[in-house]
Amino acid sequence: MSSLQDRKTTGTVFNIQKYSVHDGPGIRTIVFLNGCTLACRWCSNPESQKPQPQLAYNEGRCLGLSKCVRCVEVCTKGAITEAPDGKIAIDRTFCRDCDTMDCAHACPSKGLIIYGETKTVEEVLRVVEQDAIFYSRSGGGMTLSGGEPLFQHDFALALLREAKRRRIKLAIETCGNVPWETLAEAAPLLNNVLFDIKHIDSAKHKEWTGGGNERILENFHRLVTEFPDLHVLCRTPVIPGFNDDEETAKAIAELIAPYPQVGYEMLPYHRLGTQKYTFLGRDYLMGEVSLPQDVVPRLQGIVEAIVRERRGLNG
Ligand code: SF4
Ligand code: SF4
Repeated sequence: MSSLQDRKTTGTVFNIQKYSVHDGPGIRTIVFLNGCTLACRWCSNPESQKPQPQLAYNEGRCLGLSKCVRCVEVCTKGAITEAPDGKIAIDRTFCRDCDTMDCAHACPSKGLIIYGETKTVEEVLRVVEQDAIFYSRSGGGMTLSGGEPLFQHDFALALLREAKRRRIKLAIETCGNVPWETLAEAAPLLNNVLFDIKHIDSAKHKEWTGGGNERILENFHRLVTEFPDLHVLCRTPVIPGFNDDEETAKAIAELIAPYPQVGYEMLPYHRLGTQKYTFLGRDYLMGEVSLPQDVVPRLQGIVEAIVRERRGLNG
């Protein structure tokens, strides 16, 4: 694919976050792509799960129908009506996130917002390159996240190819649940892969994420075997009731131990992003659970001890 073709390739992006010090080495720009192959119950980016832009409603910002009726007037689907509190109600069976989203464009107060925007590779990289000076000083670069960044595979690969031509260091955060061919095409372009391993038991994985883990585990093994020079950081979001137990931690440790180039990190469960479920008219399925502060250090210690022992690093 030529540079010109890559630069014109379009995809849906729901956020570009600058000056991040997480999600890869150095100072990074994180590009969040819409679309995912899983639907984890605890997802803190629910707006990422569908591939197309989505309409969200922040009731606190709505002026109320006594002052403003713009969205009601422009919606040709009749999806917006008056709610009992004098603000609006969106009937999502009529709405279906129409192509124009005229209601959000008409809203004067950001009560209606759109998660996701179509952008070309060139448009994304123009934003990313604004931080080039920080990348060279810190060893940072661009990280593709999501959603699952490889879900929009043509766009993601064009973005990675063109960024590499511009000498930007590259990372992806992947759930691993993508066709091997896509991952194998991305791998030679990447410096770092942040690869989620959420659970070893496929039935449990399916129950909590909507998908089994067979393809994820196979992709993990193939990636670290066929691309041994790639820096892979395996990560586990620790979720109460799902994988916050020693047995799971030990099984994950045994999985990664044979590969000396693979690092490991646990990410504690948090409740950031729950408000976005309300904005999208969805239920947050985790309820009111929380994770005691001592769980992650304890489980991380178990994983590290097993990995050190298997790799012969003790003493
Ligand atoms: S997104 Fe389209 S269909 Fe849905 S409420 Fe807005 S204008 Fe109506
Ligand atoms: S256009 Fe915005 S402020 Fe006006 S009624 Fe609709 S949501 Fe409320």
